[in-house]
Amino acid sequence: MQTKLLAPLAKSASGKKADTILRSCVHCGFCLATCPTYQLFGDELDSPRGRIYLIKSALEGNPVSATSVKHLDRCLTCRACETTCPSGVKYGQLVDIGRQIVEQQRPLWQKVYRRSMRKIISTPPLFNLAAPFFKQSVISSAEQPTSATLEHVILHSGCVQATLAPNTNHVTKNVLHKLGFSVTETAQSECCGAIDQHLAAHEDALIKIKRNLDRWSELLSTGHERILSTASGCGVMIKDYPALFEPNDPYYHKAVAISAKTQDIAEFLTTQDLSALKTKKRRISYHAPCTLQHGQKLPRIVERLLSQLGYELIPVADAHLCCGSAGTYSIFEPKIATQLRDNKLKQLSQPNIDLIVTANIGCQLHLAKGTDIPVKHWIELLDE
Ligand code: SF4
Ligand code: SF4
Repeated sequence: MQTKLLAPLAKSASGKKADTILRSCVHCGFCLATCPTYQLFGDELDSPRGRIYLIKSALEGNPVSATSVKHLDRCLTCRACETTCPSGVKYGQLVDIGRQIVEQQRPLWQKVYRRSMRKIISTPPLFNLAAPFFKQSVISSAEQPTSATLEHVILHSGCVQATLAPNTNHVTKNVLHKLGFSVTETAQSECCGAIDQHLAAHEDALIKIKRNLDRWSELLSTGHERILSTASGCGVMIKDYPALFEPNDPYYHKAVAISAKTQDIAEFLTTQDLSALKTKKRRISYHAPCTLQHGQKLPRIVERLLSQLGYELIPVADAHLCCGSAGTYSIFEPKIATQLRDNKLKQLSQPNIDLIVTANIGCQLHLAKGTDIPVKHWIELLDE
């Protein structure tokens, strides 16, 4: 794709990155078929290719209309288009840059509303005040002491999950202890920065990210071997930290080291001897979060792990499609999010299943709102 970015922007780091990504798109349109919003609306502007043109136009200095803002807002950042794209277009990075540019054109009331929600969700003391209205799960099992220590690991707590689904990390610690690992859980305040980053508040995101990089680098230098994440939305953000820094930035090398040491809990457990774990016979539907299959590029990892452990997994059609949760998307685009959730639940709610499991807190909470079938993190199966 030919580009002609505005002069000051073309020289900036984000402008150069956007330019490279834009030039890698060959307009083939293969990505349209797997885009959830294109499937719903059939409108080119609700497709990855259409949005790439909107971002290009904004970066070239053309006026940004309310229509452009609307179609970029409707993007779930699910990155299904990245999985499909034969040219390796880094759409996720491009849309973050594009959103920052169009954000300036957003009506004031929307700016205030979005900023308020962002601050509440990503500030634990504020979020915890509102949490009793949403509380989703309770801690159901007693934590067990570590008998022998194979390795010290860091468990990323997550800001939302720590409050709304505390059992996920509690059970994860039990499982890791049974397998012989000692666990240091990060504080709830060590938010990965994804909410700020995807809502065009890059400076706020960087403050959190730099704080995390300092803190976690220190933990890694004092005997911790890796960082584990049970929320795939946080995991992909941490793995993508290096893309947020220029190679000459002092934080770049820390970001590379932290990214290399970060694993989703499923990724980690597939490398371990799990014979010490007891499992129950269960018939389940698994929802694969976009952040795990498209973001972290780990398709079918949980399905394979659970099948190996003896769980009966029901085949789920259109497993590549987003459930509509997508971070804060279900708050700002509730109608589309509900439509996508209902479509997803039709596929997941097969006869005689015991429960639905997933690998990301956002998907878990969003799906649970639309069904009477219990929805849990899959790790909870391993400590029943
Ligand atoms: S599939 Fe990739 S190269 Fe083709 S239009 Fe979509 S983003 Fe561009
Ligand atoms: S990130 Fe998802 S919703 Fe956005 S353009 Fe790509 S496939 Fe469509």
